Amino acid sequence: MKKIHNFSAGPCILPQEVFEKSAEAILNFNGMGLSLLEISHRSKEFIAVMDEARAIAKRLLRLGDDYEVIYMGGGASFQFVMIPYNLLSPNGKAAYTDTGVWASKAIKEAKIIGNVDVLGSSKEDNYSYIPKIEEVGSEYDYFHCTSNNTIYGTEMKSFPKTHCPLICDMSSDIFSRDLDFSQFDLIYAGAQKNMGPAGVTMIVIKKEILEKANATIPNFMKYKVHIDKESMYNTPPVFPIYASLLTMQHLEKNGGIAEAEKRNIAKAKLIYDEIDRNDLFQGYSKTEDRSLMNVSFYLKDEKLSPAFDAAWKEANISGLKGHRDLGGYRASIYNAMPVESVQVLVDVMKNFKA
Ligand SMILES: *Cc1c(COP(=O)(O)O)cnc(C)c1O
Repeated sequence: MKKIHNFSAGPCILPQEVFEKSAEAILNFNGMGLSLLEISHRSKEFIAVMDEARAIAKRLLRLGDDYEVIYMGGGASFQFVMIPYNLLSPNGKAAYTDTGVWASKAIKEAKIIGNVDVLGSSKEDNYSYIPKIEEVGSEYDYFHCTSNNTIYGTEMKSFPKTHCPLICDMSSDIFSRDLDFSQFDLIYAGAQKNMGPAGVTMIVIKKEILEKANATIPNFMKYKVHIDKESMYNTPPVFPIYASLLTMQHLEKNGGIAEAEKRNIAKAKLIYDEIDRNDLFQGYSKTEDRSLMNVSFYLKDEKLSPAFDAAWKEANISGLKGHRDLGGYRASIYNAMPVESVQVLVDVMKNFKA
């Protein structure tokens, strides 16, 4: 098989070891003589997977017993719905920051059931920067933000001081950089950007924020139900959870989030330096808000794009096209992306200029 350098934004690259162990589990899970795909989710073997998937996430994020981890289907998009249903009180107000398409979808869902104030927005500038918000008051039921804007390549470097629960969509930068995760009251991430295959979402919740949760919503929508049932209220997405566990184990073995962050900074520097040095290219996002995970850029002269496209395809690069809303190029350099592949792309850009 020829080596492809996969810069896809999601679903995306995962560690090779995860692909191999996942394939093995599909054929013969834990030496049981059965496929992971045919065993009961209530078997002791799968319950062990679920328990470890919940525990390892908290270890990686350095969170204690005041937090719970749940896994469920529906994608990050279902969390856009569950969050207001659980946490926005009938006469209350939620605060959001509008930093991109995903953030605005979250806002749209919350507005269906309650009052929303948008405290910052970069929509007018097509989301090329992160609006700064210093503090959020206690008049809100919660504040929601998106730590990394996958399409534009902007990333929040700091988070406001909030006097209400702080909620963050970390779908595209979970486990990629070290933060004080205890500042967050709810973190969620669709797996398919940095932690596993599509089909499962991880939700990390500080238990105390559920004391005020709405009780008159369908059971399936209640965080408390999924916590009490240890993510087995209904059949969980067994395979994506297992593959996510393998990815988290791989991360833990390789030095955890702190080491991943060092590798990610080095990879991002390599490509941003080339974008800044090479006058054929221009970065999309404001320099101080540049993402470590998604590098959006474009050719200053669009007429060169057929030749540039041919050059990177020739180098076995895939998935470099920008999002359909933005055009240009986007190099997604998630945790599993090796620095060698980033170097291949940088060399293509250098040679293209030469
Ligand atoms: C991809 C993405 C989503 C949507 O995820 P789904 O799992 O497809 O619902 C939400 N937020 C961010 C930041 C994303 O990158």
